[in-house]
Amino acid sequence: MKFYILTLFPEMVENGLHTSIIGRAIEAGLLSIETVNIRDFSTNKHGKEDDYPYGGGAGMLMQAQPVYDAWKWVVERLGRKPRCIYLTPQGPTFQQAMARELALEEELIFLCGHYEGIDERVLQEIVTDYVSIGDYVLTGGELPAMVMVDAISRMVPGVLSNEASGSTESFENDLLEYPQYSRPEEWMGKRVPEVLLSGHHKNIENWRREQSILRTRERRPDLWERYQSKTAGESGQK
Ligand code: SAM
Repeated sequence: MKFYILTLFPEMVENGLHTSIIGRAIEAGLLSIETVNIRDFSTNKHGKEDDYPYGGGAGMLMQAQPVYDAWKWVVERLGRKPRCIYLTPQGPTFQQAMARELALEEELIFLCGHYEGIDERVLQEIVTDYVSIGDYVLTGGELPAMVMVDAISRMVPGVLSNEASGSTESFENDLLEYPQYSRPEEWMGKRVPEVLLSGHHKNIENWRREQSILRTRERRPDLWERYQSKTAGESGQK
């Protein structure tokens, strides 16, 4: 899968995404992440890519032309127009289901805003999806793009060494993951639950499911409600 990230700060994205599991997947050729520096497309002789917003107001705005030309450069090279995601607090919130769906694409373009954002006209021209990573305002779209690339990449076959781990984690089926333990069997007077040492797979599975339910009910009542209405709907259909 190929990610193209249009940004004013390519080094920020490159430093963050070339390590650990994602870094290894890039080396293995499962993913490629290419940053495109929007500043390189400025026609201003000082490389300026921002200006004051019409109508006044605080801060600067990224101008339409360099953003459009950076996008066009990617699209012309590819010979097609992949989905172009603008990271913005004004979009629907990124969720695991969205990560799963976007992982089916061959290529994605991410557009990172900075300052007060980007001239609306270029957004209308190139953006297919508006996505937020939460109800707070960050200084730029680079961290949100990295969050999305990481979550999407984990859904790409082969990126996680253990294929099962992606499908048992939190948010799959609207439940949070069960608690987990590693060696030693006792630490600071706390013992690992006996069932996990029993080697009895069915009992372990049941215990984990129970714990997932308890944890979701306690920590995320909103997810629990959704899970319940889904399972009620499914049993009603049978
Ligand atoms: N003036 C904009 C507004 O009120 O909606 C906020 C601009 S923000 C300071 C600068 C850039 O950071 C945005 O263009 C966007 O790319 C990114 N950004 C900030 N918060 C974000 C969030 N919660 N999710 C995704 N991107 C975000």
